[in-house]
Amino acid sequence: MANAPPGRLYVVATPIGNLGDLSPRACEVLKACALVAAEDTRHSGALLRHFQISVPLLSLHDHNERRRTPELLARLQAGDDVALVSDAGTPAISDPGFEVVRAAAAAGIEVRAVPGPCAAIAALSIAGLPTANFAFEGFLPSRPAARRRRLAALAADPRTLVFYESPHRIAEMLEDCAAAFGGARAAVVARELTKLHEQVYRDSLAALRARAAEAAELSRGEIVVVIEGAAAPADAADSGELDRVLGALLAELPLAQAARLAARIAGARDNDAYRRALALRDASVPD
Ligand code: SAM
Repeated sequence: MANAPPGRLYVVATPIGNLGDLSPRACEVLKACALVAAEDTRHSGALLRHFQISVPLLSLHDHNERRRTPELLARLQAGDDVALVSDAGTPAISDPGFEVVRAAAAAGIEVRAVPGPCAAIAALSIAGLPTANFAFEGFLPSRPAARRRRLAALAADPRTLVFYESPHRIAEMLEDCAAAFGGARAAVVARELTKLHEQVYRDSLAALRARAAEAAELSRGEIVVVIEGAAAPADAADSGELDRVLGALLAELPLAQAARLAARIAGARDNDAYRRALALRDASVPD
């Protein structure tokens, strides 16, 4: 008898909060697979039960991914379709999955994406910051020195930057970002996306840092931080003149008016002058 053709590995995105975000195709694929490899079988078991999907689960997390990979490959080679899910969002994005995907592709197994929720993309899509080029940085190092080194390396990056952050570290993280990038950079803190208490804060890094230091709600739940990229060097060249004009006008006029006038006098863009005005104001306010 001929051998069964190999199965497929489906990489299936699951909701990041709102169960309505599990796509009909994700549901069908999960139902039809012989096995679901899950980061946490209890967590994914509850999701599958909610959708009345009864398929055996196998745990696959950061600590056993290497060990589990040959077992999953054997199942795929024997003809079983396998779905890979993580606790929330898209597997392999700051989640386990990359090792299995690489091994399956190398073994000639078909790997199919069943795309859907991803916190980074959801936050970016509503941030209102440029999206033509962006850098997904995932979690910054938890040790302060390593985190600051990473931020220093990103300070001149013109791309919009996307970070995951733990709520316990958000105040520290924003503090370090403001120090590395300047307090005037625009940023968005997106919290509890798609959930009941979803909140999106848009402001300068300096203002967000101050808010995180005070507001208890910012130290709970799940958070994505999106930060505007560095200004192009051409803008920086004229910043001396802009700062000089702003310095004089800010002493006499409200911030928005000073920024508008300074932009006209120094030949800068309104947005750049406004951001610079915020930075100068924040720099002159004692912490
Ligand atoms: N693979 C997931 C994805 O596609 O988004 C990310 C997994 S990573 C371990 C978990 C982090 O994603 C959280 O710490 C948080 O930074 C972010 N995250 C997940 N769900 C979120 C939500 N509903 N709102 C905001 N951030 C979320």
